[in-house]
Formats: sequence, structure tokens, C-alpha cells
Amino acid sequence: MTNFRKPPNPIEYGIFNIKIDYPEYTVVTPQTGLEYGVRSLSVSEVNRIKSSITTPSSAVKLMNEAIWSAIVRKPSIVKNFDDFMRLTTDKDREALLYGIYLETFGNEKDFTLTCRNCGTERLSKIILDNCFSINAYPGSESMKNQYRVVKSIEKDTLDPTMEEEIRKESLKKLRENLIKQNLPSNVTVDDSINELIPESTDIPSDDNMMGGEPIEPVRIKPKDEAEETESDEVTEFIKNSIISSETKVSLPVSKFVAVVFQPTLKDEDELLNKLPFGQKKQLDLLTETVILKRFELTNQNSELIKITSRMDIYEQYQNLPYRDKNIIIDAYRDNYGQYSISLSTTWLCTNCGFDNTMSLDLVTQFFRMVATS
Ligand SMILES: [Zn+2]
Repeated sequence: MTNFRKPPNPIEYGIFNIKIDYPEYTVVTPQTGLEYGVRSLSVSEVNRIKSSITTPSSAVKLMNEAIWSAIVRKPSIVKNFDDFMRLTTDKDREALLYGIYLETFGNEKDFTLTCRNCGTERLSKIILDNCFSINAYPGSESMKNQYRVVKSIEKDTLDPTMEEEIRKESLKKLRENLIKQNLPSNVTVDDSINELIPESTDIPSDDNMMGGEPIEPVRIKPKDEAEETESDEVTEFIKNSIISSETKVSLPVSKFVAVVFQPTLKDEDELLNKLPFGQKKQLDLLTETVILKRFELTNQNSELIKITSRMDIYEQYQNLPYRDKNIIIDAYRDNYGQYSISLSTTWLCTNCGFDNTMSLDLVTQFFRMVATS
């Protein structure tokens, strides 16, 4: 059976493939499943990044702009930089950066490896492609389409995760059709879905609920409350992608409910704008909370309180008990963060025989290379 979500060789799979006639890398983003072509950065572009990094916040902005300018081919849905920021997650950015990095700085790199057990150092040449792996989000349109094609060709292919994604998609369509027939026009679809479908029809909720039953009562939201600033195509894409998915987790110590989601570059940018002169340490603390959409809690009068403002979320998060924080981080990793590229290699220490694993942080590597080139 083809385990096509974890292909053994990304080049064979076509996720990353080098075109010989033109120095362009094809990158399919692991979370949104969009296809881009990226080129190498020029010497002047690298120099410009190097000379304009003044604050950690500006470094992120420059990186986003540099990636955007290095994109030579993009999906038709992405019309401008703002669309790109709305449709790209931080994990997608890593994949794009990987393609640009390889084109700009090459596939080989010297690293000083330090043994975790005895501290012995050794210099080693690492081939990045050999360290590369990808775990693509099974719910993206392109992954579902690909699965359908693979299944039609190789009849014995059966991937339970993909089957479940396709089942969820058809149930969602069914649910939307039912709602279109029944609802008054001033009501949005998403919030009222669960109320309209009888429980006996066994249709799962869109939310991944962890640690118990859903706590939030269904709230019907008037249509004009909903944001309708994006073009229809972008809105429609987001609605059916990982970006609109939410995971609720009950926090055992504080008794809050945390709503975890996959932020986009736009979410990250809005957060960074709140602390434009922040030090790296402060920004790291702030961006740790970017995966939180909101907190929900019930007050003494049994009223549901939603904490949605960025700075309020930040303050509540800082006050959370350690155990609750870990539950949030795990929920993010399991539902969103794991869908990404990763660069890691193992090596055996010749001094003590310890089996070391090294993971490369591409964003850090990128800036290190820019700074030293
Ligand atoms: Zn060792």
C-alpha cells in the first residue's frame, strides 16, 4: 500500500522538484496544500535583509516580504501580498523558506554537532535533502483530490485518515444543504449547524472537542457581524481549510476552555504590531499565545464569558498553571503543528556511542546564513 502522506522521497512525490531548465523549486505547502514556485534570493536581496534587520519584529516582516518576492509562480487564488498573508500558515512558510534556502545557499552545509551525552564536538557536512521529511495535512483540498486519484489507480489503497477526511467533507456538504433549506437568510451557517441536525443522524461537530463534551451553547450570529472583507474565493478557501479549524480543550486546573487554532502569517503580523519595539524574549512570550483563538469560561451566574482580545488572552495565558499550558501546546501540536516539514538527522557519537538526533530550525538557519553571507 502506498503511504502517500509520508512519502519516502519528497522529490519522487513531486512536492519539491528541481526544474533543470530554470532554477525554480516547486513547493506544495504542507497545511494549505497550495503550490508555489520559488527562486533563489539575489545577492542584493540578501544584503538588503541583512542591513534592515533592526528589531526581531522587523526580521519577521522582512522574511515574509523576501519570501513573497522570491515567489515566481503562485496559485491563482493568491492575488496579492495580503491574500498570501491570509492563506499561509507559519508551517507553510517553513516549506517555502526551505525551497528558497536551498536555491540560495545550496543543499550542503557544515555543522558543528555536539553530543548530548558527553559533549564531544565534531564537524560534519550535512546534505539537507537527506534530512527532509514532510507530513501534509490530510484535510486540504489538494490532499483529498490526490488521494481520490491514487485510490482510483491503485485499488488496494486505503488510508483510514483520508477516508475519515472525505467522510467529514461529505457530511459537511450535507449539513450545509440542510441548513440552506431551513434557515432564515440573516443567519450564518457555521454557528447553527449543530442545533439543526438531530443528534440521531450522527454527524460529528466541526470542532475537535478534547477532554469532554462541547461546553459552548450554540449561538446564532447575525450575518452582518461576520467579516466579509476578503474576496469570495479566498473566504471560501479558508472556510474549507485548516485555517478555519478550531480545537477546544478543557483545562483541568484552571477550568477554562481554550480554543486552539492554526494561525496564519496575518495573525502573526497583527500580534507583532502590538509590540513593535519588543525584545526577542518578549516577542517569543507573546507569539507563544498566537495559537489561542480565545478562552471561554463560565462565571458565577453561569454566563459564558469569551476572552478574545489579544492582550487579554496573553495575560490569562501567563497566569495559567503549567499543566494547563502543556495541554494547550499538546493540542496545537497534535491537531496542527505536526503538519509541517521537518529537517532532522541522527548521528552516532564516536566517543561514547550515544545515538544523537539533531533537528534544524530553518528560520534560525536562514537568518544565520543571511547574517554571515
Ligand atoms: Zn558522546
